[in-house]
Amino acid sequence: MRAVVYRAANDLRVETLPVPSIRAGELLVRVAACGVCPTDIKKIQYGTVPPPRVFGHETAGTIVQVGRDVRGFAVGERVALHHHVPCLDCHACRRHAYAQCAQYKKTGITAGFEPAGGGYAEYVRVMPFVLPGVVKIPARNSFAEGAMLEPVNTVLKAARRLRLLPGDVVLVAGQGPIGLMFTRLLALRGAAVIATDLFQPRLKLAGSLGARWTWQAGEADGTARVAASLAELVHRVTRGRGADAAVVAVPLDPVVTECLQLVRGAGQVLLFSHTRRGAETAVDLASVCVDEKDLIGSYSADYTLQRQVARLVFSRQLDVRALITHRFPLEKTAEAVALAARPQPDSLKVMVEPGALEC
Ligand SMILES: [Zn+2]
Ligand SMILES: [Zn+2]
Repeated sequence: MRAVVYRAANDLRVETLPVPSIRAGELLVRVAACGVCPTDIKKIQYGTVPPPRVFGHETAGTIVQVGRDVRGFAVGERVALHHHVPCLDCHACRRHAYAQCAQYKKTGITAGFEPAGGGYAEYVRVMPFVLPGVVKIPARNSFAEGAMLEPVNTVLKAARRLRLLPGDVVLVAGQGPIGLMFTRLLALRGAAVIATDLFQPRLKLAGSLGARWTWQAGEADGTARVAASLAELVHRVTRGRGADAAVVAVPLDPVVTECLQLVRGAGQVLLFSHTRRGAETAVDLASVCVDEKDLIGSYSADYTLQRQVARLVFSRQLDVRALITHRFPLEKTAEAVALAARPQPDSLKVMVEPGALEC
């Protein structure tokens, strides 16, 4: 089969690998769509994990082989995969901290080599401990929609960390695919969202997904034209209180500082994009101690939200189709990663579609 192998930092090669052979408790899935995720991009660009690996963990496809001990799945079923599933039984899991569970940290899907998701390949092997995370895709939904379950789950998990009452004002900084999902999910929850981004097309989309106000960073523009600055806009719409919460969905340190200033006392600032170890920035610690502002983070998915996520996506209450702007065949995975790493005004979620030539 064809697979895109990470051989060194910034070195992805199309190679021929054996189709994975499965054991009695496993599934073999032919990959139809796999989303390009920023966490994989960082591993590829900075070479933070040893090669060789086949990345890609936002995967959907068709079951082509079912191990003899597997119950509940059949050849031909269209499924979305989850590469991490917690044990639900350890110290971390009993405290609902699934992303800190030792089993959760293991990757249960591979196209060969050290398991790393494997979605940038024609076939993946799905191991027994991640079978509870396999979700069937309804007939009316696409593989690409199935591939979006994992990122949507990470956003829903994070959004649930915010203590909000209906009508609370939430600043969502950055309207890439993740920021747009926050905007939509928070709007569905009754929050009044201020969406910011550098790119006007993204702000327009944020407005259609439910943002109450938009603000173009860098230039004074958008629907908030009457305000001279983002601080003035926040001041005006919250009658001087400050935002109830802010989500930092862009990996820029000055945005963290700005958000800490813009939330009210006892408000929350949620970090979602700061996934690079060793990154440091100055924080006015009195904003945490005296002003009681919470600086919190969220990483990865919550397995127990999977049904709710599937309902949101497949019912199109959160219509992820608007977020997918580019599709690449498997051979062009390196191009797909490059585009996702340097977003353009019109680019949002980028998909690799290994099955594209076959259907
Ligand atoms: Zn991801
Ligand atoms: Zn556990």
